[in-house]
Amino acid sequence: MRIPIIAGNWKMHNTTEEALKLVKELKSESGKTDVKIVICCPFTVLSEVSKEIKGSSIKLGAQNMHWEDQGAYTGEISADMLKEQGVEYVIIGHSERRQYFNETDETVNKKVKKALEKDLIPILCVGETLEERETEKTYEVVKAQTIKALDNVSEEKMKKIVIAYEPVWAIGTGKTASAEDANAVIAYIREVIKEKYSEEVSEIVPIQYGGSVKAVNAAEIMNQEDIDGALVGGASLKAEEFLAIVNF
Ligand code: 13P
Repeated sequence: MRIPIIAGNWKMHNTTEEALKLVKELKSESGKTDVKIVICCPFTVLSEVSKEIKGSSIKLGAQNMHWEDQGAYTGEISADMLKEQGVEYVIIGHSERRQYFNETDETVNKKVKKALEKDLIPILCVGETLEERETEKTYEVVKAQTIKALDNVSEEKMKKIVIAYEPVWAIGTGKTASAEDANAVIAYIREVIKEKYSEEVSEIVPIQYGGSVKAVNAAEIMNQEDIDGALVGGASLKAEEFLAIVNF
């Protein structure tokens, strides 16, 4: 039985004051035990948010990390630095990072491996662009991204990973993949994992959907058989909306 994971990706939002206000509201209401709640914050608020969520069921996530342990990498943050702040999850390979910050399948793979080595749980993002969808390349693209991101990741380590299927055209656009469509792609990703690893592993790995998830569509999406929760962007910035998704 996979437990759904509802993760908020705050992206580049929330100063410390804003972050603490939001977290206090989430904390007071998030008593749900049949889902895992993760909030992926900007680096600058991790420390304060970590203190605030102590003792609650909310887990802390980051939105990126570097693949080296340390070194002359101006502006980068290492896995150890995240762990020191109480981070347990880290989003890796988000399409915005692939699109605007030149992340490649190769760097995504390095980050996934480093996160796992350091006992951080990667939330590995895959998904096709609008052009790829329109030219019927969705399955080919998500397969290639998944396989390349998992190069040299062992079967044991694979049991620790979370995958998020986020069609790029559905992010921040108000357009969602239909629940059936999203479920079909996610079931296919599970099949890819089964082929690469085993049936056992493919049944363990939680695969979320992301892209314009809101309170109004959360239940329909998450009631699909293969969808194990959501990676929520815009709707995770308002406590009431995010909690409605958590309580889908
Ligand atoms: P939106 O929910 O704002 O579409 O963003 C989705 C996303 O990119 C989560 O990582």
